[in-house]
Amino acid sequence: MARRRQIYEGKAKVLFEGPEPGTLVTYFKDDATAFNNKKRGTITGKGVINNRISEYLMTRLGEIGVATHFVRRLNMREQLVREVEIIPLEVVVRNVAAGSLAQRFGMAEGTPLPRSIVEYYYKSDELGDPMVGEEHVTAFGWATPQEIDEILSLALRINDFLSGLFLGIGIRLVDFKLEFGRLWENEQMRIVLADEISPDSCRLWDVASNEKLDKDRFRRDLGKVAEAYQEVARRLGILPEGGAVDAKGSTSIQ
Ligand code: C5P
Repeated sequence: MARRRQIYEGKAKVLFEGPEPGTLVTYFKDDATAFNNKKRGTITGKGVINNRISEYLMTRLGEIGVATHFVRRLNMREQLVREVEIIPLEVVVRNVAAGSLAQRFGMAEGTPLPRSIVEYYYKSDELGDPMVGEEHVTAFGWATPQEIDEILSLALRINDFLSGLFLGIGIRLVDFKLEFGRLWENEQMRIVLADEISPDSCRLWDVASNEKLDKDRFRRDLGKVAEAYQEVARRLGILPEGGAVDAKGSTSIQ
């Protein structure tokens, strides 16, 4: 890590300058935070698993023609990505009532929604990521009307694809958060999927038992957090049965 210039340190990831201009290296940490940093902890081996899961899902999405920032995984905890100009929105797609939506409307968690709902939150730690509407997004210039249209249709397409992919391994995709960025190539701008897709940013419930296989286990002190992340990776077929061995040589996932 020391050989690269650090660009930014987030809650779960560190960004470093990449080997070529226009690239970055993302390092996945084991740190976990919730409730806008009020709850902090460590999930042993989470970075290794999220690096793999995000690589897998971004690669599958790339195969169906969804442009992403992902280039390739470099090692257990790092991946090479294209540098993009992040659009300051958290785009949340929901299929089932849970979390803040269930709370806001007094709905029981697990109630199916009549159709998928897409919400936007303005990325701001100081403000606690307030929910915003398309009007705020375009009026404040975070994205143009054309960009937000594209983001909406990409989010729904990603939801359709990922819902099917997870259902195939016995997991319900309850909701998830996406981030998008602008990528310039030969004077042309494209909107691409950025950040990560992992159990940190999705609610994933076992179809048969409704067991939570995501960060809610950390948020709600349900225990067996690392095991849940590992189970998702195992079902996706991307982890050896015996667990993952970290780059440092220590066994990171028991
Ligand atoms: O908390 P809430 O119900 O609004 O979260 C909706 C979805 O977005 C959940 O899957 C959660 O993991 C994800 N999310 C996230 N990062 C945030 C807020 C929510 O990944 N800052």
